[in-house]
Parts: sequence; C-alpha cells; structure tokens
Amino acid sequence: MFVAKFEKISKDDIDIAGGKGANLGELTQAGIPVPPGFVITSETYEKFMSDTEINTNIMDILKNTDVNDTKALQEASDKIKEIIINTKMPQDIETMIVEAYNQLSQSVDEDDADVAVRSSATAEDLPDASFAGQQDTYLHVKGVDQVLEYVQKVWASLFEARAIFYREENDFDHEKVYIAVCVQQMVQAEKAGVMFTVNPSTGEEVAMIEGSWGLGESVVSGDVTPDHYDVDKKSGKIETLTVSDKKFMYINDDKGTSLKVEVPEEKRNERVLSDEDLKKLLDMAKTIEDLYKKPMDTEWAMQKGRLYLLQARPITTLDNVDEPTSSDNATDLDVIVKGLGASPGMAAGSVKVIFDLDELDKIEDGDIMVTAMTTPDMVPAMKKSAGIVTDEGGVTCHASIISRELGIPCVVGTGEATSTLKDSQEVTVDGKKGLVYEGIIKTEESQSSQSETSTSQAAAPIITVTDVKVNVSMPEAAKKAAATGADGVGLLRAEHMMLGLGAHPKKFIDDGKEDELISELINGIIKVADEFYPRPVWYRTMDAPTDEFVTMEGGENEPIEHNPMLGWRGIRRELDEPELIQCEFKAIKKLHEKGYTNVGIMIPLSQNVAELKKAKELCADVGLIPHKDVEFGMMVETPAAALIIEDYIAEGLDFVSLGTNDLTQYTLAIDRNNEFTAKNYKEEHPAVMKLIERTIKICVENGVTCSICGQAGSVPRIVEKLVGFGITSVSSNADAISDVRKTVAKAEQKLILDAAREQLNK
Ligand code: PEP
Ligand code: MG
Repeated sequence: MFVAKFEKISKDDIDIAGGKGANLGELTQAGIPVPPGFVITSETYEKFMSDTEINTNIMDILKNTDVNDTKALQEASDKIKEIIINTKMPQDIETMIVEAYNQLSQSVDEDDADVAVRSSATAEDLPDASFAGQQDTYLHVKGVDQVLEYVQKVWASLFEARAIFYREENDFDHEKVYIAVCVQQMVQAEKAGVMFTVNPSTGEEVAMIEGSWGLGESVVSGDVTPDHYDVDKKSGKIETLTVSDKKFMYINDDKGTSLKVEVPEEKRNERVLSDEDLKKLLDMAKTIEDLYKKPMDTEWAMQKGRLYLLQARPITTLDNVDEPTSSDNATDLDVIVKGLGASPGMAAGSVKVIFDLDELDKIEDGDIMVTAMTTPDMVPAMKKSAGIVTDEGGVTCHASIISRELGIPCVVGTGEATSTLKDSQEVTVDGKKGLVYEGIIKTEESQSSQSETSTSQAAAPIITVTDVKVNVSMPEAAKKAAATGADGVGLLRAEHMMLGLGAHPKKFIDDGKEDELISELINGIIKVADEFYPRPVWYRTMDAPTDEFVTMEGGENEPIEHNPMLGWRGIRRELDEPELIQCEFKAIKKLHEKGYTNVGIMIPLSQNVAELKKAKELCADVGLIPHKDVEFGMMVETPAAALIIEDYIAEGLDFVSLGTNDLTQYTLAIDRNNEFTAKNYKEEHPAVMKLIERTIKICVENGVTCSICGQAGSVPRIVEKLVGFGITSVSSNADAISDVRKTVAKAEQKLILDAAREQLNK
C-alpha cells in the first residue's frame, strides 16, 4: 500500500503508516470526525529511494563519512538532504500523491485544500526524536507543487545529522529505516468552539457547548462571549440556549496566520449553532465517550457544514471533586520537618537522602527524595519520586519549578531535611502546607503518589478577557499544561531544556556542533508549540546562573561568582557570547518556516535599552526580523527596566512580561533561593507593587501587551490586583490555572460593576 486515506488505516498498520498515521486512521474508523487526510506510507519512501536509484549514492556518501567528525557529518547530511529534495519524483509516485491530494481537496469542496504535512515515524522501537524525522511538520501547505515539495522535505529529514549519528551509534541499517508522511486538512472554521461531553462541575449527562464565528481562537482565548448551549444527552432537548453579541472573530490570512476581524453586523447576534449542528455535536460526544470510556473536553470546528474534532482530552475536574488537597485530617500526627509549600499535593513514601549526584540511583519509583537542593541532573530521579524535600530554596527555586511542573508534592527551604530525615524512614509530604509528617498518611492523593495535581484542575468553562496562560519549563510537561485549557504559554524557559542536554550548550558550539544544538532546541520547543498551536508560546532565551552550569560536561570553565544571582546571566551573558542566542534564534526561525508562527521571543533580565536593541539586531542577522516575522518582547525583572519601560517601548516591543521572582529579589535585596531570608521575600511589598503597577499602566497606555510570569502570577490575591491595574494576561503554573482563571473572572466582573455603580452615582 503506497498511499491510503485515513479511513483505510488502522492501528495494525503502524509498520507502514507510522504511529501518527495509524492513530489518525483508528480515530477515523471509529467514526470520530477528525479532519480528513491520507498517509503516504513508508513503502512509498522505499520505492522512491530505489526507483530513483539515489539510495546507492546516499549509502556511498554515508560509507565515506566519519560520523565522529562533526563537520564532515553535517556536510554529508546536507548533501543527502539536497539529493532527496532535488530528485524528481517518479511519475507513478507523483500521480498517487497528486490523486490523493486532489481527492482530499474535492472531498472538502476546495480547489486546493490547505493541509498540514507531518512525518510519522515507523520504527517504534527507536526513540522518536533521536531517530529524526519524527518531529517534522509543515502547516498551511497548499497546492500539489507545495505538497510534493514538503513530502520530499519530510523524507529528507530522515538524514538529519543527528539521525545519521544515532543510527551509526546504535548499529541501525540506514537502508532499513523508513518514514511515512501524513497529509491532513487544516480546517478553515466558519464556526468553532468547545464542548464538554458532561457538565464539568456536576458530572450531569448534559453536553455543554460553546460556539462562535470563525476560528476557535475567539472562544478559547475568551476574546468573545460565545453562544452557550446545554443539551440533554438522552433526550437531545436543548435545556439552555444563550445567544451572545459576538463582536469579533478570527480568520486565516493567506499565510495561515490568524487575523482578528469584526463580525459583520447582521451576524453578531445570530445564533451560531442550528438544531442540526447540535445534533452532530451530540452524536460526536457519544462516539468520543464510547471510544475513550470517559467524559471528554473537546474543541471542534465546522467548515461548510461539516463537523471536525480538533482536540479531545478527559475532563479531569470531575476526578477532583471533594478530594482532599491537603492534610486536614492529619493534624494529630507528628510534624518532623517544616518548610515552604512549593508544589501542592500529598505524597507518602520512603525517604532517600541524596548528598551527592552519584547516589541518585538509590531513588526508586515512589520514594521521597530529600536533598540540599535539586539540580538539572536530578530531573530523571525527580520524575521517579513521589515527593521532594529540600534544605534550601524558596518557592521559585529549581526544585519548586520542576516539581510543580511534574505535579509532584514538594517542600523546600526546610534547612534541616537532609540531617533530620533518614534513609528508609516512612514519611508523608504535604506540599501545600510545607510540612513533612512521620509515617504514612493514606489519602486518595498519597496513594497515587504522582497525583494529577497539575491536570486535575483543568479548564472549567470560565471565559475571561484577560488571557490566562501557563508557564512551561520542560517540554515533557507541555501536554499536561495544555490540558489546563490555558490560552497559551506565557513563559517557556530555555534553560531547563538546555541544562537537560547533558552537556553545556557552549560545548556544542565549541565542538562545532551548532546544528545539533539547534535541532535539540527545535525538538524541545516544537513539543510545546504543537500542543498549543495556534495559541501563542513565548520562548524565553537562556537565563541560567553560572552555578547551575558547573556540574555539566563542559561546565568546568564556568566562572566562580560570589553572587551568581547578580552575576553573568540572562541577556547580559548572551550578548557577551552571542553564538548561543543566535542558535536559539535560528531554531525559532526554523520553527516559523515549519508553520509554527505561534512562537514568540522574549529576552530575560534586561537592565538597559541597548540590550534590547542589540538582541533584536542579532535576531535580524539570522534572517528573522523582529516585529515583522516574529513577536519580540522582554521580561521586566529588574527595577531598572520597570523604571524606564517607556524607553524600551520607544525602541520597539511587542510585549512585556513581569518576572516578579527576580524583580522582587532585586527590589528588596533578598536572594530568592536563600532559605534564611525567605520570610522577608514578599512580592506584595509596596515597592514591588509600585514597579508592577507602573509597568502595566505604561504598557497599556502604549498598546503593548503586558503579562506576568513570575510566581506572583499564580497567587490569586495578587492576580486580583493586577487585573485592577489593567494587565492583559497572566501566566501561571499549571496547578494554579483553575484558581487563577476564577480570580481573573471575578476581578473583571468587579471592574465592570464598579464602573456601572460609579456611573449610577453621577
Ligand atoms: C521571574 O524572574 O519572575 C521569572 C519568571 O524568571 P525565572 O524564575 O526563570 O528567573
Ligand atoms: Mg527571572
């Protein structure tokens, strides 16, 4: 089988259709209306390679390449990719693909369907990203010429330098690794929205549907109050129907970028979903529940009267009803260690004290990791742990950020955990109250130690005008983060990704392995960009203090600084060593070329305008023009930046994000990681709040988007104040999204009410 529609493919075809293709086939066969498409199987790739006889040539190049010579490897890779891309596709293969594409276009009533072209790896036993090709995706491809061009590009991706290297290292035969390609329609929605297959608060068998005109972005982002329909699943009766005034909608321009436009006057108050549309949605709700065997939260779209499912995830709020989130019933037990609650949830298990990195293998699944402070090398062991307790740190330290993202209960800054707690001791960690109890407390949560703390607070259908976004540090956490229904990623931290590479990023550059570094970055960022597409993802360039680098391979030369927090970090370091930031910019450029135009750039820790100017020049130097090709913004993390924000705006900024973790430490002269001063570290200090208020107001006056991504953005009582100042978005930790969304909604309503009352009193 060379080319097959999704309908003809099932999970048994994984060998020729790859994982992605087989899954899309399976969903289609189950009657789920995923956007239609077809798979160009691995057999087609094989045929292309042998019919054109380029295989021999390619194998010769590989035979004569020393893969340990990075430069030679890169040259070989470039040469091979060029051969694959430039070889004319044999007529019979071309005809099959063109026919399938034309049929697809016809089936969706288009001359040339707008499609996504994605690779689908077939060798399941190979680690996906390292095997390469896996991550290749091109969005908004249109017309037969482009489709053929991108199919060849996906094939060529099998010969990225790192993929070749990986296969050599692991003795895989280059001739026996194949790749399939999925071509799938991109829906140009005329109407779109969300549907919960049950009431997400009560679990009642009522489908809750929201819909508005144009792309789903308007509903998901909350820019528009959509129509609301509650439909009884058994009788099909519409129980509630609210038609709203829908002022805006999003449409795609030629390049597939979404544009916000006004809804034509006559459609503003028109009902979006007809009875027939609702019936289609109800049928889909039932099919999806049958397939997944649970209530689901979905995003849907309609084009030319056809319904498509764009996303589906379980409704996790239901699991959480009335579940204890803290140790309310444990007060009579002995508290043996106290610290700061850094990641909520309860976990019970056996203590393993880690004094040195080479003891990490002591940690087994479900243990409680106890250590002075975690470092990036510890992440794999942290993932196995049920709970984490540290001596040092505050709520914004490495242990706190990572455990919140992993959904692991964590207590930091105890000052004594490594001396008080002993190996094999059984304890219970309360990550909300910051306590460690002697013995095991059995609660629902501590039994399933890696409780779904993050996802369990998934999106309730609350619509806010202020965007509620999420912070992501590890690409692996992107799925969980997206499941919260967040409006985008307000902070994607680069450093956790880089520190996870195993070697100092500078080592890649010094060893001439820039391309490897760029593709590692792409592989990390794309996981997030894809989960959230088309919602925006702000990638923040590298900001790690020197002391976090030293334990890494190639980190030996890092300077020893008296105070790394005040030292060589953030944009000031990146401008001193511009090679790294240019690799980051090149990675973003490549992502934009693949269609991920939702990725923006944000620079960290700036203290003067020249830094912003220089960073933008470096970005333009790689061919990615700030403000034109890519959204370019900055963090406000120093009092200096907050006090001259107007000068930065004059230089040109698409957005600003308040980094209150650093802003607080630099305003109050309190090291954020120091457990001795943690009690003096207060984001709500009036001086910090003044800087925040000033920044927000000046940005709003100048029409610059202003957000927050520091820990203060996860604290409801602070968020309430920020909404009052006029902040345009808030980016929180995944576990806080639900609370923050409610707070934002309440604060917005209060503003409206206050304004109305003022009007009345006039
Ligand atoms: C901040 O400083 O508030 C911030 C979000 O950045 P980081 O915590 O990574 O320093
Ligand atoms: Mg910071």
